[in-house]
Amino acid sequence: MSSCIFCAIAAKQVPASIVYEDELCVAFMDIFPMRPAHILVINKRHAQYVHELSATERAHLFEVGHNISQALRASTFQPAAIHFNINDGKAAHQTVPHVHLHILPRYQGDTARFLAGALAKPLLMLKGPLKRELLDQQAQEIRKNLR
Ligand SMILES: [Zn+2]
Repeated sequence: MSSCIFCAIAAKQVPASIVYEDELCVAFMDIFPMRPAHILVINKRHAQYVHELSATERAHLFEVGHNISQALRASTFQPAAIHFNINDGKAAHQTVPHVHLHILPRYQGDTARFLAGALAKPLLMLKGPLKRELLDQQAQEIRKNLR
């Protein structure tokens, strides 16, 4: 099995609540979400940094992220806004050394909750991941709004 957790997800060696998949990318629910419906989009080929991706992989990663964001907007989560975020390196809080695009819903006036979610992440990681059943439900809700 791959020592990289995201490569293991891409290779279906570990379970994930997958929202979308094609030959280059896979999108799945973050098991330690900062807020509900926190999605990660990755390239299947391992690369730690954005500059290690090919131009095609970089472009495709963002295009998949865009499609996911549109599905998220159309879903019952109905975010008011969305973060598209890549932490490119450890000093930028990249926690898994495999490029991943965060798609994170935001709501009017949710800054306190959002910051609390960020601060609580280490605690959440100790407590363990969100229930697979809940993540699968969220993935399904977003997936059915993909076009
Ligand atoms: Zn990897």
